[in-house]
Amino acid sequence: MIPFSPPHIDQKIIDEVIDTLKSGWITTGPKTYRFEQELARYCGNSHTVCVSSATAGLELVLRWFGVGPGDEVIVPAYTYCATANVVLHCGARPVMVDVNLGDFNISVEAVRKALTRKTKVIIPVDVGGWPCDYDELYRLVQEHRDFVPSSPVQEKLGRILILADAAHSFGARDKGKKAGTLADISVFSFHAVKNLTTAEGGAIAFNLPPAFDAEELYHYFHVFSLHGQTKDALAKTNGEWRYDVMEAGYKANMTDLQASIGLVELSRYESDILPRRRQIVHAYIEALQSFPWAEIPPVETATRQSSFHLFLLRIKNITEPMRDELIRSMRQKGVAVNVHFQPLPLLSAYSRLGYRIDDYPVAYHHYEREISLPVYYTLTDEQVHTVCDALIASVKELLPA
Ligand SMILES: *Cc1c(COP(=O)(O)O)cnc(C)c1O
Repeated sequence: MIPFSPPHIDQKIIDEVIDTLKSGWITTGPKTYRFEQELARYCGNSHTVCVSSATAGLELVLRWFGVGPGDEVIVPAYTYCATANVVLHCGARPVMVDVNLGDFNISVEAVRKALTRKTKVIIPVDVGGWPCDYDELYRLVQEHRDFVPSSPVQEKLGRILILADAAHSFGARDKGKKAGTLADISVFSFHAVKNLTTAEGGAIAFNLPPAFDAEELYHYFHVFSLHGQTKDALAKTNGEWRYDVMEAGYKANMTDLQASIGLVELSRYESDILPRRRQIVHAYIEALQSFPWAEIPPVETATRQSSFHLFLLRIKNITEPMRDELIRSMRQKGVAVNVHFQPLPLLSAYSRLGYRIDDYPVAYHHYEREISLPVYYTLTDEQVHTVCDALIASVKELLPA
């Protein structure tokens, strides 16, 4: 069986984790701080804060921005539930919009139509690692005249915040800039299945206008993600035990055990991991693009490059049950595939709140025909061929010419 997305844990990672275990410091400490600096250096933004997950990172940012009851946050209908769950956690309303026809990302035109005086944040999602149209989104929020600030931070920004759900797009780029510098704030996920993993974890990359002191924000988010406590455990080890709690903060810090995995992953990300993922994706494109039933997702243009997190293939002229049959058939041939994503209105938690899939026809049309093929560092060329053969045979069985 070719699995969908196994983690790649080699001796180098094991050694680094053992080093941390033996160091006497296993929670947030020197390795987390180093990982943060190296993440920021890689992306090209000034400051990055590591947290326990992307979900926690997104929620911390919404709360820092003062998002609460009565506010609206625009999210795409086509995403993982975390993007919208955090909006609900804050007591605000997720305003769902449809996605583009040509890719899986939020439609800027749909965002424009959804803007109101209550809109505080837009959360674009770089689905599969393909960056959204941030230039267009910036134009939109800069032209929008109806922003009504209701917190000091909102006053300072003076417009809608663009908060990228960059869970998939670490390493992606657009016009020479990497993910992490494309939106005001970008949140990465280092969950086990993501491009770069720390088992569980995430990072908040700051790229706000100069009115915001990035150094100050970095310290604020450290405190805010650790109970609001002015000193972390490491800072108290020098005998200065007394600390204060500035506000009822959250518990969402990253540990040095996680950071040690991330440090090794990051050290070979650009030279090794990303090029291999790119090769695999291009091998799929090469093998499949001549088939009339294959709809290939955009992964690279002259200016934009995916992080090659997912290969979101669509099969033309099939229905949802046929797609599911295709997945079963590939499984029988020894290949695990997946579906990204069920649009949120299809999920009970969201249909119960009144969201209706009929309002997001593009999202549904993408979903019903979508299968994600395996993409990961250790997938061999031979396995890529096996995946393609299984797919081509399964489609032939399903769609006799
Ligand atoms: C994985 C994922 C998240 C959540 O990441 P965690 O680190 O598991 O919290 C958020 N958004 C998208 C689009 C994801 O795929």
